Amino acid sequence: MSLDPARLTIADALAGLAKKDFTSVELTEASIKAMQAAKPLNVVITETPEKALEMARASDARRAAGQAGLLDGIPIAVKDLFCTDGVLTTAASHILDGFKPAYESTATAKLWAEGAVMLGKVNLDEFAMGSSTESSYYGPTVNPWRGKAGEKLVPGGSSGGSAAAVAAGFALGATATDTGGSIRQPAALCGVTGIKPTYGRVSRWGIIAYASSLDQAGPMGKTVRDCALLLQGMAGFDAKDSTSVDLPVPDYSASLEAGVKGLRIGIPREYRMDGMNPEIAALWERGKEWLRAAGAEVVDISLPHTYHALAAYYIVAPAEASSNLARYDGVRYGLRVPGKDLTEMYENTRGAGFGREVQRRIMIGTYVLSAGYYDAYYTKAQKLRTLIKKDFDQAFQRVDAILTPTSPNAAFPIGANSDDPVAMYLNDVFTVPINLAGVPAISVPTNLNSEGLPLGLQLIGKPFDEATLLRVARSIEQAADYKAMPEAWWSK
Ligand code: GLN
Repeated sequence: MSLDPARLTIADALAGLAKKDFTSVELTEASIKAMQAAKPLNVVITETPEKALEMARASDARRAAGQAGLLDGIPIAVKDLFCTDGVLTTAASHILDGFKPAYESTATAKLWAEGAVMLGKVNLDEFAMGSSTESSYYGPTVNPWRGKAGEKLVPGGSSGGSAAAVAAGFALGATATDTGGSIRQPAALCGVTGIKPTYGRVSRWGIIAYASSLDQAGPMGKTVRDCALLLQGMAGFDAKDSTSVDLPVPDYSASLEAGVKGLRIGIPREYRMDGMNPEIAALWERGKEWLRAAGAEVVDISLPHTYHALAAYYIVAPAEASSNLARYDGVRYGLRVPGKDLTEMYENTRGAGFGREVQRRIMIGTYVLSAGYYDAYYTKAQKLRTLIKKDFDQAFQRVDAILTPTSPNAAFPIGANSDDPVAMYLNDVFTVPINLAGVPAISVPTNLNSEGLPLGLQLIGKPFDEATLLRVARSIEQAADYKAMPEAWWSK
């Protein structure tokens, strides 16, 4: 029997490794082969096969010595926004050409300490700004799922490479980040599971910043259980990140099968948007029925400020981005384009190094933070943010979790929204309020739509209660019984 990473969950692979059905070297070799066969999807920016095999050999030695960690021997992909020691880290931007950090992000260091194996650094929207992975300097990633007529579709974004790596089946899991939906939306569009933890649950240290008060790292995997394992590996207090929270990390896998009997699940009425895609509306209804049938009480709730979330987000996120990206000046990192004096060198470097979307965000951010407009835009957006957070606080006095769709649409063709930034921003309508409030949320794949493309449901949880969130997600997963896999057309 040949070892096919596409058909293995992390939990299965750990069991297989423990039973000596295969070694991590064998599994990693199979993953590398599959990664190389998936080149037409343009998922990986930097492959690290030698490093992967070295890590796999060390893992096999640890396992033989009875010292295997939580994720020992499991090959994963890393979003190219996490700094990796000595390995090119690009944020999918030209401006970071040749940047090899001399340090490792805390989140990835924790995964390596648990024995995970790095296959490579995967594609994203430039600096994580986008919903389709099309703004990457390295070109768009192609969704492993194709349209009915074979059209090439986006994998969602910004963590489109992470989602595609799992959906294409070469990585058993992936790291990702979510500032306004970048874990959940690509997970939904590629038919995988992804969780954005509570702000502060996973250290941001060593992750290239987009909007620091919204950015949060988390995992993607095939199943809720795999996400629970990966999150366990990544999470925890880190003195190097002042916003990291010093709370114990519960055993997320232990409570997964506890069911939802007696839990109250809220359905926010404001998420029922005008003109909602009927297939998404029907899926949402089905989600309610699944939870009801499993013993949960489903109640209507209100999150009254939802309507303003997208506008507030697209002020706060660019504002923080404009400040975070000021450091790329041609002196400290990567690309430098000379000029006749220092100012011209800055202008040339930033003009050539940043793509259109990043430049647009820097301009919006600089504008809303400028003296004359600060109160009109930035202060107002921050006030809205407080109101949005209060909506969730109030809702969570009545319910244990909230159910919504993840994305207003399935995967769309590459190029379809590229000339219309506002249409692109609308992809985040169900996901951004969660980042503004700092609460955790997960996307679970549920079914294929009439076009044969995956859809997902989003569950939102109480701050730092990822355990309950994962448990409710597990209940949806069980009811949905989603088993679809894309046909591997890229390796033919
Ligand atoms: N699509 C959103 C944006 O462009 C969210 C991106 C993210 O979560 N990193 O900002």
